[in-house]
Amino acid sequence: MDPVLIVGAGIVGLTLGQALKLRNIPFEIYERDVDPDARGQGWAITLHWALDYMHQMLPEDTVKRIQDVQVDPDVARNDNGNFLFINLETGEPRFKIPPSVRWRVNREKMRKALLVGIEERVHWGRRVVGVELLEETKVHLRFMDETIVAGRMVVGAEGSRSMVRQGLRPDAFDNIPLGINFTGVAVDLSPDEIKPLRDMDPLLFQGCHPPTGAFFWFSMLETPQVNHTAGTDAERYRAQICMSWREDSPDDKVADTDEARLANMKRRARGFVPFLQQAVERIPNGTPVTEIKLADWECLPWDNHDGRVTMAGDAAHAMTMYRGEAANHGLLDAFNLANAIEKVYVGAESAGAAIDAFEEEMRKRTSRAVRLSRQACRDAHDWGRLDETSAILTKRAIKGE
Ligand SMILES: Cc1cc2nc3c(=O)[nH]c(=O)nc-3n(C[C@H](O)[C@H](O)[C@H](O)COP(=O)(O)OP(=O)(O)OC[C@H]3O[C@@H](n4cnc5c(N)ncnc54)[C@H](O)[C@@H]3O)c2cc1C
Repeated sequence: MDPVLIVGAGIVGLTLGQALKLRNIPFEIYERDVDPDARGQGWAITLHWALDYMHQMLPEDTVKRIQDVQVDPDVARNDNGNFLFINLETGEPRFKIPPSVRWRVNREKMRKALLVGIEERVHWGRRVVGVELLEETKVHLRFMDETIVAGRMVVGAEGSRSMVRQGLRPDAFDNIPLGINFTGVAVDLSPDEIKPLRDMDPLLFQGCHPPTGAFFWFSMLETPQVNHTAGTDAERYRAQICMSWREDSPDDKVADTDEARLANMKRRARGFVPFLQQAVERIPNGTPVTEIKLADWECLPWDNHDGRVTMAGDAAHAMTMYRGEAANHGLLDAFNLANAIEKVYVGAESAGAAIDAFEEEMRKRTSRAVRLSRQACRDAHDWGRLDETSAILTKRAIKGE
């Protein structure tokens, strides 16, 4: 049997690979990174409503490995699951969303956890540059080095700047910018330095500065237990500090250098409640400041060529992270797609019918999610618009239009 060809070894591509392996469906994953460490440390993500699907589609030991890469094992044992949104001027909580089960995991470590057991199916340093549909029942992937592989179907899971998307919608593949800019850093903090932040919430919290609309986001990346500094003189936590702001004038653009980006974050934090201003102020000069482009793509329709080419995850629906659910949607895509592919491989349905049904559900569910995340992003920068009905707060439900 010809394999399913998956483009991209991110969370979604690897999860789909694991789910196909459990069903004995042949697959190969092609990844442009040269090895699993190429991306550096990355950020943390919250898995919430997708946890049920993960339990259903992944081997038990894989789920356990993912559970083990939670950013703070102590909090994970007694997590109250609060989602806190505060007034950055006063430090007062504005909204506190009650508990739900969540795992806050390091994204790169989750990727490594997902690799175990399918290593021989993941091909590193293989940048895909084209999809070719020359024969009726096959599809080919073309690589940068001009080599070609054949398979039964292609799944573009190569993230929000998807090459497969570009092929399927050459007229409208670009993500649409939101007019809001975002930069963030990862910093090491001593137990004393991090205490006021962890007192607010040990895992993450967010807030808006009413006078300027600046948004701030604190998130834990590593505790001393995880980085093995606990009990030593060098005990340290690693946290992520991010800020975003509306682009109202040329001064609001993201600068080219780390130095200027850091100066901008420090300038925008003036007027924050003192412990937060200090948290930004003490970010050391020379710290790399990463820009994340806030832009989205609403899962527009495409021709899947009788079920031979489809997409999943950020490739199929790019959304901003203000509702923290893009990866959750990507995991549900993988679950539904594995079921659809199984029907094709056992001969229960034609590829066209199975992939049409998969895409129809995904499109309905995620176009709503993209729009809600866009609204959440706008609301997060406008104190006057924030109330209990704001998209940043409303339940992250899995439903379509
Ligand atoms: C700061 C931040 C916080 C977030 N927090 C959350 C959260 O709390 N909860 C949540 O649900 N989501 C969150 N997200 C979103 C989440 O990170 C993404 O939805 C998820 O990582 C997407 O996974 P993916 O596998 O679709 O794509 P990616 O992770 O982008 O993986 C795509 C892979 O494809 C590879 N690739 C790209 N092009 C090619 C090519 N041409 N050939 C071969 N390989 C290629 C890339 O190298 C990459 O490894 C957050 C995002 C950000 C930026």
